[in-house]
Amino acid sequence: MNKIGMIGLGNMGSPMAENLLKKEGSIIVYNRTKSKCDPFVAKGAVAADTVKEVAEKADIIILSLPGPVQVEEVVSELIENGKEGQIIIDTSTVSPGLNRKMAESAKEKGITYIDVPVSGGPAGAANGKLSLMIGASEEEFISLGLKEYTDTIGDKYFFMNKRGNGNAIKIINNFMSFSAQVINGEALAMAEALGISMDDFYTVVTKSSGNNAILNAKMNKVKNEDYKPGFALDLVVKDLELARQLCQENEIANFTLNTALQMYRIAQAKGCGKEDSSAVIRTIREVEKHIS
Ligand code: NAD
Repeated sequence: MNKIGMIGLGNMGSPMAENLLKKEGSIIVYNRTKSKCDPFVAKGAVAADTVKEVAEKADIIILSLPGPVQVEEVVSELIENGKEGQIIIDTSTVSPGLNRKMAESAKEKGITYIDVPVSGGPAGAANGKLSLMIGASEEEFISLGLKEYTDTIGDKYFFMNKRGNGNAIKIINNFMSFSAQVINGEALAMAEALGISMDDFYTVVTKSSGNNAILNAKMNKVKNEDYKPGFALDLVVKDLELARQLCQENEIANFTLNTALQMYRIAQAKGCGKEDSSAVIRTIREVEKHIS
């Protein structure tokens, strides 16, 4: 029986670990802030003290880490201390280039590394309803026997056939979603300036052609001014920077991306980085006021 390791117990990693623990009865958990392991240990998980320990004990290792720096550090350590036949499933959003580099160096040691970035937020992870964007073919993924584990976190599989292409489509998706969130914020600020209530704004546009997924997903957070992070604003800046980097490397023009990125950067500079991405509305309102 495979031993499962889970590294990174944040907003996404925690519900993933919860579901894997339910399925397996026991898993190995590791997080930089060790206390995040405690609730899982109380339910039967084993906490590792180091990444090396996870590499030595687990057969399949699932990662949910903030970004490229942490992924490179952790995966390098896993490869260094790992053994042939191990599999690393990386659900973090990082650059396709980093995914390919990690996959290549893993392969030299007989370890399989696959990018499986996700979409659907902490609620999607908890309900097992995430979209999974997989940097491998369906044939490879199934033959490795990974589906029984990923089924605990996601139910929409998209096989992108090549290492890194899971993250390529994920970054494109997040460019769309987080740019739309800036448009939604500007639209709300317009409505407010024109004397239209927030309730009327949402009632009309969610039933009309202005509707979009992130408008629905964040509506209650904005209404209740509840900016506790589901998806931290710092991570939006990271994802849009990844999109900018992809465009630069591939000589792709992208105008809206830059505008959205600057708005989130201003929000970050104003101290909203640890809040939910929807907190960008506060910066938009301030900027609009300043201009008028
Ligand atoms: P998070 O910051 O809440 O969690 C990251 C966790 O990793 C934290 O618990 C942190 O302590 C831990 N960590 C950091 N460095 C570490 C290291 N070197 N070793 C071990 N643990 C370490 O972030 P999140 O919101 O859970 O996102 C995780 C990844 O999933 C990111 O790449 C993000 O872009 C992506 N993602 C997030 C969402 C979302 O809605 N939050 C949705 C889709 C994808």
